[in-house]
Amino acid sequence: MTLIDSHSHTAFSHDGRAKAELMIEAAVGKGLAYYAVTEHLDRDYKYCKKERFLRQLNLKKYLRAVEKFRERDFGDTFVAFGVEAGYCAEATEWYAEKLSGYDFDVVINSIHTMHGQDAYFGKLFRGRKKDDVYTEYLDLLLESLHVPYAFDVIGHIGYITRYSGYPDFTLCEDRYAERIDALLKEIIALDKCVEINTHIRHPVMKYLPEKGILRRYFELGGRRITFSSDAHTPADIGKDFDLAASVALETGFTDWTVYKKHSPETVAITFDKNQEKGV
Ligand SMILES: [Zn+2]
Ligand SMILES: [Zn+2]
Repeated sequence: MTLIDSHSHTAFSHDGRAKAELMIEAAVGKGLAYYAVTEHLDRDYKYCKKERFLRQLNLKKYLRAVEKFRERDFGDTFVAFGVEAGYCAEATEWYAEKLSGYDFDVVINSIHTMHGQDAYFGKLFRGRKKDDVYTEYLDLLLESLHVPYAFDVIGHIGYITRYSGYPDFTLCEDRYAERIDALLKEIIALDKCVEINTHIRHPVMKYLPEKGILRRYFELGGRRITFSSDAHTPADIGKDFDLAASVALETGFTDWTVYKKHSPETVAITFDKNQEKGV
């Protein structure tokens, strides 16, 4: 079994719980072949009412640490470094300027905020119809693919659904199909990667994107997927990897994609069937 994990946060991120040393040590201890540290770069928060007060990543300090880590030998584990850049239209120029100066392995392009709020706090949905919020989110996702900076992975497609609180929270409905197809086709055309993110905190969903979206991505010809625990603690590194691997294989995917200096490499999807937790 080859374990990989393309998305995690250390204490460099405002919500990271453990120092980078400890996170890397845990990944090496768990025998990961590929482990990526992808700190939150939340310039979009600068355009939010509340979130703008949260601690921003100190890019210079982070890169100094990355340079030191890169000098070290982690044995069979390739340790990649990057960021998860929170998309909003107003922040794109800043990202383009800042990110061009860093030779990251992997950049995740994620949407966390809409209308100046992180969906995490749930306020975004109050008094708004599901259709309005969801179609707006899908349009924003499509827009976010055309940023003027290099990125590799599209973060947790469906992020807002896990906090929406709507009883019928799913994105897999006919009325969104056209937008979802447009999004997936563009991802494929641009040769970007979709992550299966298991950091969900939802009573029903165990991973994102939903299975229907993964299936459609595969049907349309999408082959680049990666596994993301989105861990914020050492214990969560690789969490639910077996679940993600079994979902990926069942859908038809055969390989994970991982990035080293933005260059894609594929790793065969294998997992320990004895630990399969059911889908
Ligand atoms: Zn995220
Ligand atoms: Zn994350």
